[in-house]
Amino acid sequence: MSAGEASPPDARRAELAAALSAVEDRIAAACAAAGRDRSQVRLVVVTKTYPAADVCTLADLGVGDVGESRQPEAGRKHEECQQAGCNALRWHFVGALQTNKVASVARFASLVHSVDRQRLVTALDRGAARVERTVDCLVQVDLDPSGAADDQRSGAASGDVAAVADAIAAAEHLHLRGVMAVAPLDGDPAEAFARLAAISAAVAADHPGADVVSAGMSGDLEQAIAAGATLLRVGRSILGERPPLR
Ligand SMILES: *Cc1c(COP(=O)(O)O)cnc(C)c1O
Repeated sequence: MSAGEASPPDARRAELAAALSAVEDRIAAACAAAGRDRSQVRLVVVTKTYPAADVCTLADLGVGDVGESRQPEAGRKHEECQQAGCNALRWHFVGALQTNKVASVARFASLVHSVDRQRLVTALDRGAARVERTVDCLVQVDLDPSGAADDQRSGAASGDVAAVADAIAAAEHLHLRGVMAVAPLDGDPAEAFARLAAISAAVAADHPGADVVSAGMSGDLEQAIAAGATLLRVGRSILGERPPLR
């Protein structure tokens, strides 16, 4: 089904349960094929464009981590979930961030995956300080070898990753946890994720413990698991196809 259609709550619950279980099967198979333990990989269900009711149903089905990519949609949905009593979820922010929107993200995000420049580090640190929180962060890496050909792409160029990582590590209210990337639209995801693994190793060498690798979406989670991903961000395969975002 698509985001625009309504279905009765019971039918939607059954639909989400079935899709979640199919994705769990894919994750289990990919872990087995890679000789990895399922416990080494955590699933973040990306709920952008879908309502808070779906988020609460997912929580009820055992999902512990949800991801959002747009403000103010994310903050609003977080608030609705709190009010509905589904308040045990970890919220991940995975989308492009503007410096004027980071303060609101610092209120609800457990992990921000998309930190890709030093100005964002400064703004996020200030936002976290204001709400007296510590926010975990990943450096988003641009894996497109042609370099930011497309304005909508985000991520630090590989040569800038170390500096962004150092800035996060030095920020008082932020914790550096690792790296994140989206595989380029064209090209081999396995090759892109192998590059990300090398970048992750370099970051973890400089910052012991910053070993999270957020990679793998609906279309390429198997390749991400094979390359060592520890966090998957899966939307469409669980919630259904989204209408175009812009
Ligand atoms: C939407 C989104 C996802 C989920 O992608 P699907 O193809 O729906 O699984 C993952 N990561 C980011 C950064 C996203 O914006």
